[in-house]
Amino acid sequence: MIKKKILVTGGAGFLGSQLCEKLLNQGHEVVCLDNYFTGQKQNVVNLLKNPYFELIRHDVTMPFFIEVDEIYNLACPASPVHYQYNPIKTVKTSVMGAINMLGLAKRIRAKVLQASTSEVYGDPEIHPQTESYWGHVNPIGLRSCYDEGKRVAETLFMNYHQQNNVRIKLMRIFNTYGPKMHPHDGRVVSNFIVQALNGEDITIYGNGSQTRSFCYVDDLLEGMVRLMNSREDFIGPVNIGNPGEFTMIELAELVLKLTDSHSKLVFMPLPSDDPLQRKPDITLAKKELGWEPTIPLEEGLKRTIAYFKTIV
Ligand code: NAD
Ligand code: UDP
Repeated sequence: MIKKKILVTGGAGFLGSQLCEKLLNQGHEVVCLDNYFTGQKQNVVNLLKNPYFELIRHDVTMPFFIEVDEIYNLACPASPVHYQYNPIKTVKTSVMGAINMLGLAKRIRAKVLQASTSEVYGDPEIHPQTESYWGHVNPIGLRSCYDEGKRVAETLFMNYHQQNNVRIKLMRIFNTYGPKMHPHDGRVVSNFIVQALNGEDITIYGNGSQTRSFCYVDDLLEGMVRLMNSREDFIGPVNIGNPGEFTMIELAELVLKLTDSHSKLVFMPLPSDDPLQRKPDITLAKKELGWEPTIPLEEGLKRTIAYFKTIV
C-alpha cells in the first residue's frame, strides 16, 4: 500500500470525522480542517492520539496552503436548518471553498474530490434521478444557497479540470445517516430518533408522503473512497446513495417500532421547496466503482439508535 497524505475539509463533521478515521485505519496520514460551524472537536477527539492525524481550525473561504496527495472537500453545513442560518456564508463556503481547494490542488498537483449532493437535482421531475438529469432548482428559494452553491462548485470543478487539468472526482451524495450525527443537527433521521427516545412528538413536515432514500454512513464512505481511487479518467459526477425509498411516515413508523416508543406523530408545515421525492439511480456507481449499499434501512437505524441511546 502507498501511504498518502490526505486533507479532509469539514473533517470534524458527521461524514468527515468518520472519513478521517477510515483513512487513518487504511494507513494514511490525515490532515483535518474545520471551522467547527456544524462539526465538533468531540467527533475527532479519539483520533488525536494518532501521530498521523493533524487537526487544524480553518475556514475554507480563506486560502490554505499545504502539501498533500489528495483532498476530500466536505466543508459545508448539510442540514437545511444550518445552511439556511446564514445563507450568504453557505454560498461562500461552497463557492470560495471550491476555488481555494481547486487552486491548492492545481498548485500541488493533488487529486480533489467534491462532496456534491442530490440537491443539485432540486425538486426532481424525473424519478429515480440519473447523473444525466440537469435538475429542477429554484434559484431564489430557501434552499438555493445550498443547491446553487453546490451546483457552482460542480461547475468550478469541471472548469479547473478542463482548463487546468486538475484531477477531480464529483460525488453526488444522497441522504446519509448514522452514528455521530449531531442530536440537534435538524435532519430527519436524527430528529425522529431523538424525539422517539425522549418520548417527544415526532415532527412530520407536510403530510409525510414525501420520499427520501437513506444511505448508512459506512456504505457511503466506502463509495467515497472507491471514487477517489477510481481510474484517472473517471471523474463523475456519480450518485452515491441507497435506492431504497421511504416516505417520512414510513420512516417515523420504523423508528417508533425500533425504539419501542409511544411518541405521537404531529404534522407541521412543509418548508418551501422541500423536494417531493428522491431516489438515486446507482447504475453508474455499480459499473464504475463496483459499489452498492449493503446495509438496509432497518439495520442502519438499529445501529444509529444504539449510538443515540448513549448520548441522549
Ligand atoms: P456536517 O454539517 O456534519 O459537516 C460539515 C462540516 O463542515 C462541519 O464539521 C462544519 O463545521 C464544516 N464547515 C462548514 N463550513 C465550513 C467552512 N466555511 N470552513 C471549514 N469548515 C466548515 O455535514 P455532513 O453530513 O458531514 O456533510 C459533509 C458534506 O457532505 C457536506 O459538504 C454536505 O453538503 C455533503 N452532503 C452530505 C449529505 C448527508 O446526507 N449527510 C448529503 C449530501 C451532501
Ligand atoms: N422532515 C420532517 N421532520 C423533521 C425533519 C425533516 O418531516 O423533523 C422532512 C423534511 O421536510 C424533508 C425530509 O424530512 O422532506 C428530509 O429532510 P432532511 O432535512 O433530513 O433532508 P433533505 O433531504 O430535505 O435535505
